Amino acid sequence: MTYIHNTIARLKKTSPAQAEFYQAVEEILDSLQPILETNEKYKAHAIIERMVEPERQIMFRVPWVDDQGNVQVNKGYRIEFNSALGPYKGGLRFHPSVNASIIKFLGFEQVFKNALTGLPIGGGKGGANFDPKGKSDAEIMRFCQSFINELYRHIGPTSDVPAGDIGVGAREIGYMFGQYKRLTGNYDGVFTGKSLLWGGSLVRKEATGYGCVYFAQYMLEDHNQSLAGKTCLVSGAGNVAIYTIEKLYELGARPITCSDSSGTLYHETGINLATLKELKEVRKVRLAEYLQYHSDARYIPASDYPADGHAVWRFPADLAFPCATQNELTAQDAQALVANGVIAISEGANMPSTQDAVEVFLDANICYGPGKAANAGGVATSQLEMAQNASMQTWSFAKVDEKLKVIMKNIYRNARDTAVEFGEPNNLVLGANIAGFRKVADAMIEQGVV
Ligand code: NDP
Repeated sequence: MTYIHNTIARLKKTSPAQAEFYQAVEEILDSLQPILETNEKYKAHAIIERMVEPERQIMFRVPWVDDQGNVQVNKGYRIEFNSALGPYKGGLRFHPSVNASIIKFLGFEQVFKNALTGLPIGGGKGGANFDPKGKSDAEIMRFCQSFINELYRHIGPTSDVPAGDIGVGAREIGYMFGQYKRLTGNYDGVFTGKSLLWGGSLVRKEATGYGCVYFAQYMLEDHNQSLAGKTCLVSGAGNVAIYTIEKLYELGARPITCSDSSGTLYHETGINLATLKELKEVRKVRLAEYLQYHSDARYIPASDYPADGHAVWRFPADLAFPCATQNELTAQDAQALVANGVIAISEGANMPSTQDAVEVFLDANICYGPGKAANAGGVATSQLEMAQNASMQTWSFAKVDEKLKVIMKNIYRNARDTAVEFGEPNNLVLGANIAGFRKVADAMIEQGVV
């Protein structure tokens, strides 16, 4: 405990005001205790001290001109956290809440997640405090071009390969790739999540959501349960939430909620996937418009949420899939889920449950799949996109989906077997963190003090 306390105290001093980053470090260090206590080599090589310090942090100005001719300025980030296992890999997030703390927490988590996939990828993350909502297509393009005018010199197909995240989809990746190509003259696989017309991989768009459901399936199978007939709470209405819902239907479950930052939708007969895609992927409008198509659904605006949590977690259901953003599920939400009989949680988002909420799940001894394991299908399929680009091949949907399933099964088994090895068979947080850590830490030791 002193070790964790000292590490956090040092981070607070040397990297002030980064609450989300401390939260991620604390969660991971807490579960690494058993391996740190029994393996002197990690302390001798100062592995933790090195791991919590990114290899490189790039912060830059992103100036652009809006449609009215006004000059706007945003902050851009790319944090190259750890390259022990391969090129830095991790998404770009465009959201007004983005700051150094959020990008660092995401980058830190990414290192462990990528290690868990078993694929040769290091960890990084980036983004900007830019709000794509309400911007015209031309504004999005000018912003992406300006962002790349700085970032292009730091990325490359064998050094750092960004992808999408909140606010960054195929459209933004297209504009960024175009500008990268113009500046460098290279047509290479420097981004993943590309359009299928020019180097993208089938299943990449669906991969995080599908993978999160496969992870739930493997957890349930281990407890002699299945997805068939289960009612499910899903939060978010973006890329991850939509394809979580799609896969849940395919496997016989019934997703009854989704949400955006304005409110939560509850549809007892099941969220209509076609309507959701039309609203969010095509028209890019608020979720409240769903009621115009389905008057039997209910909409709870964010202003009516309970003071201690989020309306989406207060409906009775069998399974929960947090797929929106960090810290969107509080301890009180977790208690409500447990009281309502939820048997499994599989996290599509990164760190959606607060640390207190995770404690509630672990104490209740229900299946809990932490984001860094359950949502790793996205980055794993990104690596499959890199492999296709490098070998100039295009694989079929079925082939990529099959590989995704195998990867998710391996991630689940790796986390579960490690949890068993350390005497806490149901603690996949501990299992995922130790399994990811061991791989990165041992590689770092073998590569010397760099
Ligand atoms: P999208 O931008 O496609 O969708 C995000 C969704 O979450 C939107 O419905 C958005 O609502 C909602 N949301 C975002 N911020 C907040 C907030 N502060 N409060 C309430 N709702 C919010 O992003 P993704 O679906 O790609 O990402 C969702 C999560 O999954 C993130 O945590 C991301 O890091 C994680 N993830 C994504 C991967 C990917 O492949 N895309 C891979 C692994 C993890 P609104 O539109 O109103 O803002």
